[in-house]
Amino acid sequence: MTPGRTIARMDTETGLFDPELLDDDPDEAAADEAGSDGDGAAFRASVRHILEEIGEDPSREGLEKTPARVQRMYRELTRGYHVDPDRLINHALFDVAYSEMVVVRGIEFYSLCEHHLLPFYGTAAVAYIPDGRVIGLSKIPRIVEMFARRLQVQERMTAQIAEFLMDRLHPQGVGVVMEATHLCTVMRGVGKQGTVMTTSHVLGIFRSNDKTRAEFLSHLQRPTSSV
Ligand SMILES: [Zn+2]
Repeated sequence: MTPGRTIARMDTETGLFDPELLDDDPDEAAADEAGSDGDGAAFRASVRHILEEIGEDPSREGLEKTPARVQRMYRELTRGYHVDPDRLINHALFDVAYSEMVVVRGIEFYSLCEHHLLPFYGTAAVAYIPDGRVIGLSKIPRIVEMFARRLQVQERMTAQIAEFLMDRLHPQGVGVVMEATHLCTVMRGVGKQGTVMTTSHVLGIFRSNDKTRAEFLSHLQRPTSSV
């Protein structure tokens, strides 16, 4: 298989990624239960309190079930805290004599900024050069998801994804680029609407070798539709 074909196939498969994939993990669901405050009564009381503080009436019809909905939503949006990384990549590392760059682009993610608890969302591109070992293709979007479903800052999340792959896969190098729109900026009119923030983190040969980094960046410039 030529490197070009590999990359093309990966772009295609990434497009099939279902962001809800993680929800099917029974181990994660169990951990999720254990991690919450019993039946969540304290959480719901806190939401009711916030509603009162902003001048609302938590007992009016439209808001009656809001605390319970918000509780379920935050549990879902912060699931990443309860994912076991070992189980996530379990049985997905393969010894393969392949040493060309592997690039997965267009990975959609949705996260919450830890400063305002508002969403930021966009796409990630993850690349690595194997050193005798590759990771199952479907695992890379799951790794992104594990770190996105937490309270985050984009810079740290980008580094966490790169360092996780470096640590578990021991490749020659890793590169991660994330582009995101932050609602805390857009909604408050701090930035121009549509402002996109880009962060990158490169490790190993992606950091030390200009040619490798340039190859990675050139992959990112190809239009996704050209596959
Ligand atoms: Zn923010």
